[in-house]
Amino acid sequence: MVLECKHVWEHISGYLDGTLDAAVLEDVQKHLEHCEICSAILDSTRNILILTADERVFELPLGFSEPAPCEAGGGDAGTSRDWGRDWGRGR
Ligand SMILES: [Zn+2]
Repeated sequence: MVLECKHVWEHISGYLDGTLDAAVLEDVQKHLEHCEICSAILDSTRNILILTADERVFELPLGFSEPAPCEAGGGDAGTSRDWGRDWGRGR
């Protein structure tokens, strides 16, 4: 089964949360290996997830057409109280 980009986007939040079925996870990972667009979206989505980690209010922006708020919150490099949390294994 070949995933299209839009299908991968639907799974990104689950991918980051580790809630995907193994079969879906494998398809998404295969897609990410050769798709720069989805890899970039995954990276930016991961950043958004970190920014909104406290409230868990993340939603996939429809179509990803709006510019990402890269500098949202100012990125306080000095306050690292939650940055030690490992999103891949901390659950
Ligand atoms: Zn893609």
